[in-house]
Amino acid sequence: MSELTPMMRQYMDLKEKYNDVILLFRLGDFYEMFFEDAKIASRELEIVLTGRDCGLAEKAPMCGVPYHAVDGYINKLISKGYKVAICEQLTDPAESKGLVERDVTRVITPGTIIESSILDEKENNYIMSGFLFDNKVGFSYADISTGSFFTGEITTDTSENSVESFLNEVIRIQPKEFILNDALYIYENKINSLLKQDNILIECTSSLGIEKELAKEALLKHFDVESLECFSIEDKPYSVYAAGALMQYLKKTQKNDLNHITDIKYCYDNTYMILDASTRRNLELTSTIREGSKKGSLVWLLDKTKTAMGSRMIRNWLVQPLLIEKHINLRLDAVNELFEENTKREEIRDALNGVYDIERIISKISYGSLDARNCISLKQSLQKIPAIKKAISTFDRDMLKNLSDKLDLLEDIVKLLEDSIEENAPAGIKDGGIIKLGYNAEIDRLKNISQNSKEYILKLEKKEKEETGIKNLRIGYNRVFGYYIEVTRSNADVVPYRYQRRQTLANSERFITPELKQLEDEIISAEETCKKIEYLEFAKIRAILCDNISRIQQTANVLATIDSLASLAKCAYDNGYVRPQITDDGHIKIAKGRHPVVERMVSDFVANDSLMDTAENRMIIITGPNMAGKSTFMRQIGLITLMAQIGSFVPAESANLSIVDRIFTRVGASDDLASGQSTFMVEMNEVANILHNATSKSLIILDEIGRGTSTLDGLSIAWSVVEFICNTDNIGAKTLFATHYHELTELEGLLPGVKNYSVIVKEYGDDIIFLRKIKRGGTNKSFGIEVANLAGLPKEVINRAKEILKKLEQSDINNIDISSAVADNNDNPHQLAMFSENAEKEILDALKNVNVDSLTPLDALNLISELNIRVKRI
Ligand code: ADP
Repeated sequence: MSELTPMMRQYMDLKEKYNDVILLFRLGDFYEMFFEDAKIASRELEIVLTGRDCGLAEKAPMCGVPYHAVDGYINKLISKGYKVAICEQLTDPAESKGLVERDVTRVITPGTIIESSILDEKENNYIMSGFLFDNKVGFSYADISTGSFFTGEITTDTSENSVESFLNEVIRIQPKEFILNDALYIYENKINSLLKQDNILIECTSSLGIEKELAKEALLKHFDVESLECFSIEDKPYSVYAAGALMQYLKKTQKNDLNHITDIKYCYDNTYMILDASTRRNLELTSTIREGSKKGSLVWLLDKTKTAMGSRMIRNWLVQPLLIEKHINLRLDAVNELFEENTKREEIRDALNGVYDIERIISKISYGSLDARNCISLKQSLQKIPAIKKAISTFDRDMLKNLSDKLDLLEDIVKLLEDSIEENAPAGIKDGGIIKLGYNAEIDRLKNISQNSKEYILKLEKKEKEETGIKNLRIGYNRVFGYYIEVTRSNADVVPYRYQRRQTLANSERFITPELKQLEDEIISAEETCKKIEYLEFAKIRAILCDNISRIQQTANVLATIDSLASLAKCAYDNGYVRPQITDDGHIKIAKGRHPVVERMVSDFVANDSLMDTAENRMIIITGPNMAGKSTFMRQIGLITLMAQIGSFVPAESANLSIVDRIFTRVGASDDLASGQSTFMVEMNEVANILHNATSKSLIILDEIGRGTSTLDGLSIAWSVVEFICNTDNIGAKTLFATHYHELTELEGLLPGVKNYSVIVKEYGDDIIFLRKIKRGGTNKSFGIEVANLAGLPKEVINRAKEILKKLEQSDINNIDISSAVADNNDNPHQLAMFSENAEKEILDALKNVNVDSLTPLDALNLISELNIRVKRI
């Protein structure tokens, strides 16, 4: 029976250990894949499938990719949901006697990518773990491309609540990969539909062989500590399980010490606001609802950072608004100073302009994949720090001062890199040309030899001429004999004893000397030796950098924070924002507020005031036609509140804001077909979430409720939701509610805290003009047909709709047959009587609802004119 070749045996042994991944097996300049892997890869990567003799009767299916282009192929495989293991040659093929040693050096999965060519520099790439047991959830997440590592623990009383909070964290973190215990793994589909990304990998800890019992030990060992007290998680077992599981998985796949993970931060301690999926989506924090694009989102507006690190940080701030007044004011103070010191801020931003992604360079240090060009980038980045520190040290508010103190100039590292690394070093670290002259005497000597070999030979030739007195002696070179000393036959007898004859030609003799031989060896081997010593020296530099990872990391973090603060200040300056005053009286009082994104899209944005409190102005019911600006107004209040709580200035003339614990939104209709839910079901789910979780300190934004069902059903639900929220025994949250159910305006006066508002529109014949101004008092007209007219519905349809509306308005749609009511026959005496009765009642109601105190003379005139027309119609 035929047997596998030794190399194939080696492959099969490895494949047995890594059977759930695609194994990229290094063979010279290629990474090859075999058997089933080859078939998958050739299909997914569109590369040719060939075969290779493997010792068996049939060839092994094979395909391969060149080593220098492997990143692109890995990216493709990972984005299609595969895991990839990289198997490298561990011994130099030139020096190996038998089979080259090979082993897997890393398993790459969607959540463990570190290659900057694959990653989006403006976003973190997180892998997340989750453990559910005893109704509690421990979770942890890490970005190994930057070294950040977090953990949290959700300890609500029911498993449902804990899972719900966990899913909110999932939305905030947007991981690319999960490892979950069995109890959480059953939510796989839910997670997939929440994140709406294709390349998410969700695996189960039990099938990965990860043990909860080893979790704590994994953390203690990694951080080299006796207890987890220093990370404040010693008494948080669920956190420890999740973080320890993640650490085990990372160590297993990365086969690396992960030295750049120097810290674990506890991140679930009620110091930041939880944003659920619909709020994040509806407020368009990181992408727009319609196109899903970044342009038009809040992050697009606020991210004026100069570095990738800053960009990631501001994004994280945005989805994690603060809850503690002191924390918010620290940031606001810093933004304030940077806002006022325009020149200094721009100096800082200019300096930040040349700062590379130090966090991701650090992960390369840790992975040993750092090259000389990365060193130059690091050096150039660090060289910018003195200017930044100088500018920042003149500020005296706490946060900036603290940042300035923490900003380590890393002068020793800069000096090391300045002294050692060649400015135009190549990317490869084994090909030489990376260490500067003057750094290492041996490297200098060897470089000198290979660069000046001609000179050395001429020098020796001169010396030999002088010593022997042979004037026509010359040193030559040929491939077979190498360097030789040539003298003419006539002088052959006078050469010194040390000359060893090598070749006799017709007219001359060729010799070598020990000195010439040594020189020759040195010249030929100088280049090779130099490359090796340069590599060793580079490895030493890398080791020094590795020892200083946490210092460099701290500096990177400080730079990212300064960048983010400066970005908020720049944005505030450019867009005319003001500093919000954080109060504790429960008010949200905004003068001339604007929607930060919409104001950038339209030329004449109309600012609006708003007042909400915990007493008389808790529930704001907003009526008005479609397109009038209701959603914009409500969202602008949500966004202004959120911006303030991330420490940003806000688009308004002034803003006095109390901290809200959550912002909830239910906006517009959206079918969630992926999870098989109808519009109405999605809507009701969102409402249920709000009613279960909102507190009196929350801000709720409801843009229509109950539109997905019959009018009466919908109205009843909306009415009862308003009652429930308004009741301080239940919630009592500050709420903005836009609705087409004019009936709800009757709640003002009935329920404490309800106030009606509407958006002013002007009618011009058949058309309406939107004034975008919010005014006190409700409206009882929808202008739906006018808006449809603006949208370009055929005139015939519009006119008929008007006719039908008129008839329906005059009848009681619940008691009569609609088809007969809208028929072209108006002389049914019974109907006519009913029409006039209803119409009269409506006019009386309208009069009753007038708030005379807030009526301007112009509004009064308009009202009289409208009532007059309606009375004439009866
Ligand atoms: P509604 O919710 O009442 O249907 P929207 O809030 O969606 O209306 O507003 C419709 C459009 O009107 C927006 O897309 C925007 O272009 C414009 N708009 C809204 N509010 C304002 C405003 N205050 N100033 C200027 N334009 C506005």
